[in-house]
Amino acid sequence: MKPRVAFFDFTSCEGCQLDALNLEPAELLDLLGAVDIVNFREVKTDRSEEYDIAFIEGSITRESEIARLQDMREKAKVLVALGACACTGGVNCLKNAYETEDLLKGVYGECAGYYNSIPARPVNAVVTVDAYIRGCPPTTAEFVKVVKAMLLGKKPDLPNYPVCTEC
Ligand code: SF4
Repeated sequence: MKPRVAFFDFTSCEGCQLDALNLEPAELLDLLGAVDIVNFREVKTDRSEEYDIAFIEGSITRESEIARLQDMREKAKVLVALGACACTGGVNCLKNAYETEDLLKGVYGECAGYYNSIPARPVNAVVTVDAYIRGCPPTTAEFVKVVKAMLLGKKPDLPNYPVCTEC
């Protein structure tokens, strides 16, 4: 049975997922031949809640996202943080310099009370992460490298970029 792969997004611009789709046709066909993509909102409507490998894009910025991410962690044998937002919190962490209430009022005005927000945090602040694909967005070469390593049951050999900082 092929490994079942799922892509999920939290607070993000979805550029990392789009970039994952931007593979050379030959690479894409190779990967599609090696895995079953069972959940990928941007490309298919059929979705399964049973998967082996979960790619997580985006940072965690709402209370409700914590339980959603924990559920993914329970289901996935391998969980990969995809992109700077997931790996470090990314650009979303800019909001951490301000009071949440002030930000909500600034964006939503009188409707601010309808929204909730927590300080932005990376995926590994909530659950254990098995592999990181860094970059904003990551390079397709690194994405392919990680997927191939996982399919071979190996730990991907990727550089730990010193320019990335945690929130
Ligand atoms: Fe978008 Fe960059 Fe965040 Fe990826 S890491 S979701 S490209 S802002």
